[in-house]
Amino acid sequence: MNGQAAFRDPQVATGLIGRIAAAAAPLDRPVTLMEVCGTHTMAIHQHGLRGILPEGITLVSGPGCPVCVTPIAYVDQALALSRLPGLIITTFGDMMRVPGSRTSLLEQKARGSDIRVVYSPLDAVTLARGNPDRQVVFLGIGFETTAPTVAGALLQAREAGVANFSVLSAHKTMPAAMEALTADPELQVDGYLCPAHVSTVIGADAYLGLAADRRVPCVVTGFEPLDILQGIAMLVSQIAAGIATVENQYRRYVKPAGNRRARQLLTTVFEPCDSVWRGLGPIPGSGLKIRPSFAALDAARRFQVAVEPAAEPAGCRCGEILKGKLAPRDCPLFGAGCTPENPVGACMVASEGICAAEYKYAV
Ligand code: SF4
Repeated sequence: MNGQAAFRDPQVATGLIGRIAAAAAPLDRPVTLMEVCGTHTMAIHQHGLRGILPEGITLVSGPGCPVCVTPIAYVDQALALSRLPGLIITTFGDMMRVPGSRTSLLEQKARGSDIRVVYSPLDAVTLARGNPDRQVVFLGIGFETTAPTVAGALLQAREAGVANFSVLSAHKTMPAAMEALTADPELQVDGYLCPAHVSTVIGADAYLGLAADRRVPCVVTGFEPLDILQGIAMLVSQIAAGIATVENQYRRYVKPAGNRRARQLLTTVFEPCDSVWRGLGPIPGSGLKIRPSFAALDAARRFQVAVEPAAEPAGCRCGEILKGKLAPRDCPLFGAGCTPENPVGACMVASEGICAAEYKYAV
């Protein structure tokens, strides 16, 4: 299926679209809803959901792709580390083609740096154990979904005395970014489809402050097309009723308090910090840095590398796209100078990138 709506139960889908239309009918203004999860972005494109919504209901994509929001300066720092003699960089595959200021990890690997793709941070710990005379650095990026597994790897490395393993952390937390987007006077987000994977860890209650303080409706939503339509119906109903609260459409996996064990891992190993998001800039309290008690395993402390100020690729509009201000087709390079085969910006590289989703399902 290529960007066209097809449902396992078309009658349920038709009923939900009718419910959205009925809820929106009393509203005398357009409604803009944002998804902040890369998997939602892909599902919305794959199933062509934007095209079947009633007139006046617009879905925009936000900063839900972990690779896309990782700042270019971090890629440059990882590249600088990869040039240190004897050092092994380990990373998830999505990071390999993300452009730094001048090159990417993939290109740097071709020039001789030892950069390896792993499927888990624990693979990197195993690699470090097998290479005690080499330093092994894992690139820790992503949201609350991946951060607990990195925390687990750091705990395991410390307990096992694997002193040649470390993590370069650029983890980010989603509620703070949603706060920042809501406060942006140039943006009008009427409601959020809250991320499902992240919410399994942090819980639906994590958005209570956002809904109460910013008066913006939030619905934690699953990934099936019917889940997403139901989430939209719940959001539009809140907007029409003039209320802003947190609802949980994805109760089959997300609990109000999330996953206590995963949250405990996070707080044991990480502490909140200010963080720079690609496209969004610095956001107070939106990152996770490694606690001083784990400083020996923190690559940023262990290795001092000089990195020049970073610059985004000329012409790339990822920044505005990640804020929901522009759509991929508003970028003059989309499909012309920038394609998945020859990506210019991170939004076209990452498997869950907004430009990649648009290109895959709508071109
Ligand atoms: Fe950047 Fe390419 Fe997307 Fe344009 S199409 S915003 S250059 S990633």
